[in-house]
Amino acid sequence: MLSQVVELIENKQKFGITTHIKPDGDGVGSSLGLCWLLNSLGKTAEVIVRGEVPVAYRDLPGAGNIRDIEKIDNDYDAIFVIECSDLERPGIAGLENEFTVNIDHHATSEHFGTINWIDATASAVGEMIYNLCKAIGGRVTREIAECVYMALVTDTGSFHFSNTTDRTLKVASELVKAGAKPAAISESIYNNYPWSRIELMRRVVATIKRDDSGRIAWMRQTLEMKESSKAVDGDNNGFVNIPLAAREVLASVYMREVGDNEYRVSLRSKGNINVARVAESFGGGGHKNAAGLRIEGDWDAKEREIVEAVRKAALDSF
Ligand code: 5GP
Ligand code: MN
Repeated sequence: MLSQVVELIENKQKFGITTHIKPDGDGVGSSLGLCWLLNSLGKTAEVIVRGEVPVAYRDLPGAGNIRDIEKIDNDYDAIFVIECSDLERPGIAGLENEFTVNIDHHATSEHFGTINWIDATASAVGEMIYNLCKAIGGRVTREIAECVYMALVTDTGSFHFSNTTDRTLKVASELVKAGAKPAAISESIYNNYPWSRIELMRRVVATIKRDDSGRIAWMRQTLEMKESSKAVDGDNNGFVNIPLAAREVLASVYMREVGDNEYRVSLRSKGNINVARVAESFGGGGHKNAAGLRIEGDWDAKEREIVEAVRKAALDSF
Protein backbone atom coordinates (compact mmCIF):
# COMPACT_ATOMS: atom_id res chain seq x y z
CA MET A 1 0.00 0.00 0.00
CA LEU A 2 0.91 3.68 -0.31
CA SER A 3 2.52 4.04 3.14
CA GLN A 4 4.90 1.16 2.39
CA VAL A 5 5.89 2.79 -0.90
CA VAL A 6 6.58 6.12 0.81
CA GLU A 7 8.67 4.38 3.49
CA LEU A 8 10.64 2.43 0.90
CA ILE A 9 11.48 5.55 -1.11
CA GLU A 10 12.53 7.41 2.02
CA ASN A 11 14.86 4.60 3.10
CA LYS A 12 16.41 3.48 -0.19
CA GLN A 13 18.47 5.21 -2.84
CA LYS A 14 18.66 3.41 -6.18
CA PHE A 15 15.56 2.49 -8.15
CA GLY A 16 14.56 0.90 -11.42
CA ILE A 17 11.14 1.50 -12.97
CA THR A 18 9.54 -0.73 -15.57
CA THR A 19 6.20 -1.36 -17.26
CA HIS A 20 4.69 -3.81 -19.74
CA ILE A 21 6.02 -4.38 -23.25
CA LYS A 22 4.31 -2.27 -25.92
CA PRO A 23 3.58 0.25 -23.21
CA ASP A 24 0.62 2.62 -23.42
CA GLY A 25 0.49 6.25 -22.29
CA ASP A 26 -0.16 5.27 -18.69
CA GLY A 27 2.77 2.85 -18.67
CA VAL A 28 5.26 5.33 -20.14
CA GLY A 29 3.82 8.48 -18.53
CA SER A 30 3.58 6.98 -15.05
CA SER A 31 7.05 5.44 -15.25
CA LEU A 32 8.65 8.69 -16.37
CA GLY A 33 6.60 10.73 -13.89
CA LEU A 34 7.79 8.48 -11.06
CA CYS A 35 11.36 8.72 -12.32
CA TRP A 36 11.23 12.54 -12.25
CA LEU A 37 9.69 12.43 -8.78
CA LEU A 38 12.45 10.16 -7.45
CA ASN A 39 15.12 12.36 -9.05
CA SER A 40 13.59 15.45 -7.48
CA LEU A 41 13.89 13.73 -4.10
CA GLY A 42 17.62 13.20 -4.69
CA LYS A 43 17.28 9.50 -5.58
CA THR A 44 18.90 7.63 -8.44
CA ALA A 45 16.31 6.19 -10.81
CA GLU A 46 16.00 4.96 -14.38
CA VAL A 47 13.21 3.64 -16.56
CA ILE A 48 13.87 0.26 -18.17
CA VAL A 49 11.49 -1.07 -20.81
CA ARG A 50 11.76 -4.04 -23.14
CA GLY A 51 11.39 -2.91 -26.74
CA GLU A 52 10.68 0.42 -28.34
CA VAL A 53 8.74 3.28 -26.82
CA PRO A 54 5.80 4.16 -29.13
CA VAL A 55 6.27 7.36 -31.15
CA ALA A 56 3.42 9.16 -29.36
CA TYR A 57 5.34 9.10 -26.07
CA ARG A 58 8.85 9.82 -27.30
CA ASP A 59 8.57 13.57 -26.79
CA LEU A 60 7.81 13.22 -23.08
CA PRO A 61 10.55 14.66 -20.89
CA GLY A 62 13.01 11.90 -20.06
CA ALA A 63 11.74 9.50 -22.75
CA GLY A 64 15.13 9.64 -24.48
CA ASN A 65 16.78 8.12 -21.41
CA ILE A 66 14.54 5.04 -21.26
CA ARG A 67 16.76 1.97 -21.57
CA ASP A 68 15.63 -0.94 -23.74
CA ILE A 69 16.91 -4.07 -21.94
CA GLU A 70 16.22 -7.80 -22.02
CA LYS A 71 17.52 -8.67 -18.58
CA ILE A 72 18.34 -6.82 -15.37
CA ASP A 73 21.88 -5.50 -15.75
CA ASN A 74 22.17 -3.04 -12.89
CA ASP A 75 21.98 -3.07 -9.08
CA TYR A 76 18.79 -1.62 -7.68
CA ASP A 77 17.47 -1.35 -4.15
CA ALA A 78 14.02 -1.87 -5.62
CA ILE A 79 12.23 -1.96 -8.97
CA PHE A 80 8.82 -0.39 -9.51
CA VAL A 81 6.64 -2.45 -11.83
CA ILE A 82 3.95 -0.21 -13.31
CA GLU A 83 0.63 -1.48 -14.69
CA CYS A 84 1.50 -5.16 -14.98
CA SER A 85 -0.77 -8.10 -14.22
CA ASP A 86 2.24 -10.29 -13.41
CA LEU A 87 6.04 -10.31 -13.38
CA GLU A 88 6.24 -11.70 -16.94
CA ARG A 89 4.49 -8.70 -18.52
CA PRO A 90 7.57 -6.45 -18.64
CA GLY A 91 9.39 -9.14 -20.65
CA ILE A 92 12.60 -8.53 -18.70
CA ALA A 93 14.51 -11.52 -17.31
CA GLY A 94 15.71 -11.50 -13.72
CA LEU A 95 12.87 -9.46 -12.20
CA GLU A 96 11.91 -12.44 -10.05
CA ASN A 97 15.14 -12.04 -8.07
CA GLU A 98 14.56 -8.35 -7.32
CA PHE A 99 12.74 -6.41 -4.63
CA THR A 100 9.69 -5.34 -6.64
CA VAL A 101 6.95 -2.80 -6.04
CA ASN A 102 3.75 -3.58 -7.92
CA ILE A 103 1.84 -0.36 -8.68
CA ASP A 104 -1.40 -0.91 -10.55
CA HIS A 105 -5.01 0.19 -10.90
CA HIS A 106 -6.36 -3.11 -12.19
CA ALA A 107 -8.37 -5.02 -9.59
CA THR A 108 -7.29 -8.23 -11.34
CA SER A 109 -3.57 -7.70 -10.62
CA GLU A 110 -1.79 -10.66 -9.05
CA HIS A 111 -0.05 -9.51 -5.90
CA PHE A 112 3.33 -10.49 -7.33
CA GLY A 113 5.36 -7.68 -5.77
CA THR A 114 7.37 -7.60 -2.56
CA ILE A 115 5.20 -4.55 -1.96
CA ASN A 116 1.82 -4.22 -3.70
CA TRP A 117 -0.02 -0.94 -4.09
CA ILE A 118 -3.24 -1.51 -6.02
CA ASP A 119 -5.89 1.19 -6.29
CA ALA A 120 -8.73 0.06 -8.53
CA THR A 121 -10.49 3.41 -8.00
CA ALA A 122 -7.69 5.29 -9.78
CA SER A 123 -8.40 6.16 -13.41
CA ALA A 124 -4.76 5.56 -14.29
CA VAL A 125 -1.56 4.70 -12.47
CA GLY A 126 -0.70 8.32 -13.26
CA GLU A 127 -3.31 9.41 -10.72
CA MET A 128 -1.55 7.19 -8.15
CA ILE A 129 1.85 8.72 -8.99
CA TYR A 130 0.35 12.15 -8.36
CA ASN A 131 -1.00 10.91 -5.00
CA LEU A 132 2.44 9.48 -4.18
CA CYS A 133 4.04 12.81 -5.00
CA LYS A 134 1.68 14.54 -2.57
CA ALA A 135 2.05 11.85 0.13
CA ILE A 136 5.83 12.09 0.06
CA GLY A 137 5.83 15.89 0.11
CA GLY A 138 7.25 16.25 -3.41
CA ARG A 139 6.71 19.21 -5.72
CA VAL A 140 4.81 18.62 -8.96
CA THR A 141 7.41 19.83 -11.44
CA ARG A 142 6.58 20.61 -15.08
CA GLU A 143 8.21 17.32 -16.11
CA ILE A 144 6.14 15.27 -13.66
CA ALA A 145 3.02 17.17 -14.75
CA GLU A 146 3.55 16.47 -18.48
CA CYS A 147 4.25 12.76 -17.95
CA VAL A 148 1.38 12.18 -15.55
CA TYR A 149 -1.05 14.18 -17.72
CA MET A 150 -0.16 11.88 -20.62
CA ALA A 151 -1.06 8.91 -18.40
CA LEU A 152 -4.43 10.40 -17.46
CA VAL A 153 -5.49 11.55 -20.91
CA THR A 154 -4.66 8.21 -22.57
CA ASP A 155 -6.16 5.91 -19.92
CA THR A 156 -9.39 7.90 -19.69
CA GLY A 157 -9.75 8.30 -23.47
CA SER A 158 -9.43 12.07 -23.12
CA PHE A 159 -11.65 11.99 -20.04
CA HIS A 160 -14.46 10.23 -21.96
CA PHE A 161 -14.43 6.86 -20.18
CA SER A 162 -16.33 5.89 -17.04
CA ASN A 163 -13.10 5.75 -15.01
CA THR A 164 -13.03 9.57 -15.14
CA THR A 165 -13.91 10.86 -11.67
CA ASP A 166 -13.91 14.21 -9.91
CA ARG A 167 -10.50 13.20 -8.53
CA THR A 168 -9.16 12.55 -12.03
CA LEU A 169 -10.23 16.00 -13.18
CA LYS A 170 -8.92 17.64 -10.04
CA VAL A 171 -5.52 15.98 -10.57
CA ALA A 172 -5.60 16.98 -14.26
CA SER A 173 -6.32 20.57 -13.24
CA GLU A 174 -3.34 20.55 -10.86
CA LEU A 175 -1.12 19.15 -13.60
CA VAL A 176 -2.14 21.88 -16.03
CA LYS A 177 -1.43 24.43 -13.31
CA ALA A 178 2.03 22.86 -12.96
CA GLY A 179 2.78 23.29 -16.66
CA ALA A 180 1.22 20.41 -18.65
CA LYS A 181 -0.17 21.64 -22.00
CA PRO A 182 -3.41 19.72 -22.82
CA ALA A 183 -3.66 20.76 -26.49
CA ALA A 184 -0.03 19.93 -27.28
CA ILE A 185 -0.21 16.57 -25.49
CA SER A 186 -3.48 15.61 -27.23
CA GLU A 187 -2.02 16.62 -30.59
CA SER A 188 1.04 14.42 -29.99
CA ILE A 189 -1.20 11.42 -29.27
CA TYR A 190 -4.19 11.73 -31.59
CA ASN A 191 -2.98 13.67 -34.63
CA ASN A 192 0.45 12.17 -34.94
CA TYR A 193 -0.09 8.85 -36.74
CA PRO A 194 1.37 7.69 -40.03
CA TRP A 195 -1.09 7.31 -42.94
CA SER A 196 -0.94 3.52 -42.44
CA ARG A 197 -3.39 4.00 -39.56
CA ILE A 198 -6.03 5.24 -41.98
CA GLU A 199 -5.35 2.35 -44.36
CA LEU A 200 -5.65 -0.19 -41.54
CA MET A 201 -8.80 1.48 -40.19
CA ARG A 202 -10.39 1.30 -43.66
CA ARG A 203 -9.85 -2.47 -43.71
CA VAL A 204 -10.89 -3.24 -40.14
CA VAL A 205 -14.02 -1.07 -40.21
CA ALA A 206 -15.14 -2.94 -43.34
CA THR A 207 -15.44 -6.13 -41.23
CA ILE A 208 -17.77 -4.73 -38.55
CA LYS A 209 -20.81 -6.92 -37.90
CA ARG A 210 -23.67 -6.78 -35.39
CA ASP A 211 -25.91 -9.35 -33.75
CA ASP A 212 -29.67 -9.40 -34.37
CA SER A 213 -30.34 -7.05 -31.48
CA GLY A 214 -27.92 -4.56 -33.00
CA ARG A 215 -26.37 -4.07 -29.58
CA ILE A 216 -23.21 -6.16 -29.90
CA ALA A 217 -20.68 -5.32 -32.61
CA TRP A 218 -17.53 -7.20 -33.56
CA MET A 219 -14.72 -6.84 -36.05
CA ARG A 220 -11.55 -8.47 -37.23
CA GLN A 221 -8.03 -7.60 -38.17
CA THR A 222 -6.01 -10.14 -40.10
CA LEU A 223 -2.23 -10.26 -40.40
CA GLU A 224 -2.73 -9.58 -44.10
CA MET A 225 -4.50 -6.31 -43.30
CA LYS A 226 -1.55 -5.19 -41.18
CA GLU A 227 0.83 -6.08 -43.95
CA SER A 228 -1.04 -4.55 -46.86
CA SER A 229 -1.60 -1.31 -44.96
CA LYS A 230 2.06 -1.26 -43.82
CA ALA A 231 0.80 -0.76 -40.29
CA VAL A 232 3.13 -0.14 -37.38
CA ASP A 233 2.52 -0.81 -33.69
CA GLY A 234 -0.09 1.52 -32.27
CA ASP A 235 -1.80 2.25 -35.58
CA ASN A 236 -4.88 0.41 -34.31
CA ASN A 237 -5.17 2.32 -31.03
CA GLY A 238 -8.81 2.91 -30.19
CA PHE A 239 -10.29 0.95 -33.11
CA VAL A 240 -12.28 -1.12 -30.61
CA ASN A 241 -14.23 2.01 -29.67
CA ILE A 242 -15.39 2.83 -33.20
CA PRO A 243 -18.66 0.81 -33.14
CA LEU A 244 -19.57 2.33 -29.76
CA ALA A 245 -20.10 5.65 -31.53
CA ALA A 246 -23.50 4.27 -32.58
CA ARG A 247 -26.18 4.90 -29.96
CA GLU A 248 -27.58 1.38 -30.11
CA VAL A 249 -24.25 -0.45 -29.79
CA LEU A 250 -23.55 -1.38 -26.17
CA ALA A 251 -20.50 -3.61 -26.52
CA SER A 252 -17.70 -4.12 -28.98
CA VAL A 253 -15.36 -7.03 -29.69
CA TYR A 254 -12.16 -6.48 -31.66
CA MET A 255 -10.28 -9.63 -32.59
CA ARG A 256 -6.90 -9.53 -34.26
CA GLU A 257 -4.79 -12.29 -35.65
CA VAL A 258 -1.31 -12.34 -34.10
CA GLY A 259 -0.09 -15.76 -35.22
CA ASP A 260 -1.19 -19.14 -36.43
CA ASN A 261 -4.69 -19.52 -34.94
CA GLU A 262 -3.70 -17.04 -32.24
CA TYR A 263 -5.67 -13.89 -31.48
CA ARG A 264 -5.63 -10.84 -29.23
CA VAL A 265 -9.10 -9.72 -28.28
CA SER A 266 -10.20 -6.35 -26.93
CA LEU A 267 -13.61 -5.89 -25.33
CA ARG A 268 -15.37 -2.61 -24.61
CA SER A 269 -18.81 -1.90 -23.18
CA LYS A 270 -21.10 0.88 -22.09
CA GLY A 271 -22.80 1.25 -18.70
CA ASN A 272 -23.26 -1.81 -16.54
CA ILE A 273 -22.09 -4.48 -18.96
CA ASN A 274 -19.10 -6.15 -17.31
CA VAL A 275 -16.64 -7.28 -19.98
CA ALA A 276 -13.86 -7.83 -17.41
CA ARG A 277 -15.82 -10.88 -16.28
CA VAL A 278 -16.13 -12.08 -19.85
CA ALA A 279 -12.38 -11.63 -20.36
CA GLU A 280 -11.61 -13.46 -17.11
CA SER A 281 -13.72 -16.41 -18.21
CA PHE A 282 -11.32 -16.74 -21.17
CA GLY A 283 -8.19 -16.26 -19.04
CA GLY A 284 -7.84 -12.50 -19.62
CA GLY A 285 -8.73 -9.52 -17.47
CA GLY A 286 -9.19 -5.77 -17.30
CA HIS A 287 -11.82 -3.32 -16.14
CA LYS A 288 -15.64 -3.46 -16.23
CA ASN A 289 -15.88 -1.47 -19.48
CA ALA A 290 -12.46 -2.27 -21.01
CA ALA A 291 -10.88 -5.71 -20.99
CA GLY A 292 -8.83 -8.03 -23.12
CA LEU A 293 -7.61 -11.57 -23.61
CA ARG A 294 -5.54 -13.84 -25.77
CA ILE A 295 -7.07 -16.90 -27.37
CA GLU A 296 -6.15 -19.76 -29.67
CA GLY A 297 -8.24 -21.89 -31.98
CA ASP A 298 -10.53 -21.65 -34.96
CA TRP A 299 -11.33 -18.01 -35.67
CA ASP A 300 -15.04 -18.38 -36.48
CA ALA A 301 -15.68 -20.67 -33.51
CA LYS A 302 -13.81 -18.52 -30.99
CA GLU A 303 -15.46 -15.38 -32.31
CA ARG A 304 -18.90 -16.94 -31.86
CA GLU A 305 -18.01 -18.01 -28.29
CA ILE A 306 -16.76 -14.58 -27.29
CA VAL A 307 -19.63 -12.70 -28.92
CA GLU A 308 -22.10 -15.03 -27.19
CA ALA A 309 -20.41 -14.46 -23.81
CA VAL A 310 -20.58 -10.69 -24.32
CA ARG A 311 -24.25 -10.96 -25.33
CA LYS A 312 -24.96 -12.88 -22.08
CA ALA A 313 -23.09 -10.25 -20.06
CA ALA A 314 -25.24 -7.59 -21.72
CA LEU A 315 -28.45 -9.47 -20.86
CA ASP A 316 -27.23 -9.94 -17.25
CA SER A 317 -26.74 -6.21 -16.92
CA PHE A 318 -30.35 -5.27 -17.62
P1 5GP B 1 -6.74 -3.55 -24.49
O1 5GP B 1 -7.99 -3.99 -25.12
O2 5GP B 1 -6.56 -2.06 -24.58
O3 5GP B 1 -5.54 -4.33 -24.89
O4 5GP B 1 -6.90 -3.85 -22.93
C1 5GP B 1 -7.94 -3.31 -22.19
C2 5GP B 1 -7.76 -3.63 -20.75
O5 5GP B 1 -7.79 -5.03 -20.54
C3 5GP B 1 -6.44 -3.15 -20.18
O6 5GP B 1 -6.71 -2.54 -18.95
C4 5GP B 1 -5.59 -4.38 -20.04
O7 5GP B 1 -4.80 -4.32 -18.92
C5 5GP B 1 -6.60 -5.50 -19.92
N1 5GP B 1 -6.11 -6.67 -20.68
C6 5GP B 1 -5.95 -6.75 -22.02
N2 5GP B 1 -5.48 -7.96 -22.38
C7 5GP B 1 -5.34 -8.67 -21.23
C8 5GP B 1 -4.89 -10.00 -20.95
O8 5GP B 1 -4.53 -10.79 -21.81
N3 5GP B 1 -4.87 -10.35 -19.63
C9 5GP B 1 -5.26 -9.51 -18.63
N4 5GP B 1 -5.21 -9.93 -17.36
N5 5GP B 1 -5.71 -8.27 -18.89
C10 5GP B 1 -5.74 -7.84 -20.15
MN1 MN C 1 -3.49 2.10 -16.94
